[in-house]
Amino acid sequence: MIIDSHCHLGDERLYGRVDDIIAGLKDEGIESVIEVGFDLQSSQTAVKLSEKYDNVFAVVGTHPHEAQNYNAECESFYRRSAGLDKVVAIGEIGLDYYYDLSPREIQKDVFAAQLDIAYEVGLPVVLHIRDAYKDALDILTAKKDKLGAGVLLHCYSSSAEMIKQFDKFDCYYALGGAITFKNAKKDDVIKAIPQDRLIVETDCPYMTPVPFRGQPNEPKFINYVVDKIADVKNLPREKIVEITNINTKRLFSKYNL
Ligand SMILES: [Zn+2]
Ligand SMILES: [Zn+2]
Repeated sequence: MIIDSHCHLGDERLYGRVDDIIAGLKDEGIESVIEVGFDLQSSQTAVKLSEKYDNVFAVVGTHPHEAQNYNAECESFYRRSAGLDKVVAIGEIGLDYYYDLSPREIQKDVFAAQLDIAYEVGLPVVLHIRDAYKDALDILTAKKDKLGAGVLLHCYSSSAEMIKQFDKFDCYYALGGAITFKNAKKDDVIKAIPQDRLIVETDCPYMTPVPFRGQPNEPKFINYVVDKIADVKNLPREKIVEITNINTKRLFSKYNL
């Protein structure tokens, strides 16, 4: 069954519907979802959801948009929750120069600081990188010896060429609804991601795939992402489900506890 590796079910756009969405996952062929924090409060929500539901796992961290609000309280919560069985990674962390909602120097410092936390607690990292792949590469290169627990580039939005640069960190690449957009031109990227490095996600309620643009995204729409990848890679959809499930559990090794 499918694992949706990146959700924000705590978002207000899905308010009041979370219980129903989670109850319906199995019927949509979804084994589990990973709720990803982007600041202290959403990370706390992710942990709570993972404690409430068997099929929800959590990732905790501060997003680059929120970097200027990162503080000792965030750090201490992320370190503490890293010890919980269902907290599988630190994220989403990284750099976003498209929106620039926090100053770039602060984004870089907070990104580096959270890479250190992940290393110290022995968890993989979920990265959000947008229009900042060069600086991200520099920071990852400086931290190369600390990335052994694994790296996932969520919503991978760069080129097929750039995958070669990230391969030295043994990265995994998550694809979501953006690959279904009309002008996505992502077929070469989909083809370039090795089968043992490919992961799927929705990033719901964002990144709603075609043909549901305009309404909030939900885990069930991940089926359209799987179909698109199967089509481009010329493989049966069951194969995409199988390999992405295995890859997700290999990266997030706490799944196997
Ligand atoms: Zn993101
Ligand atoms: Zn996200």
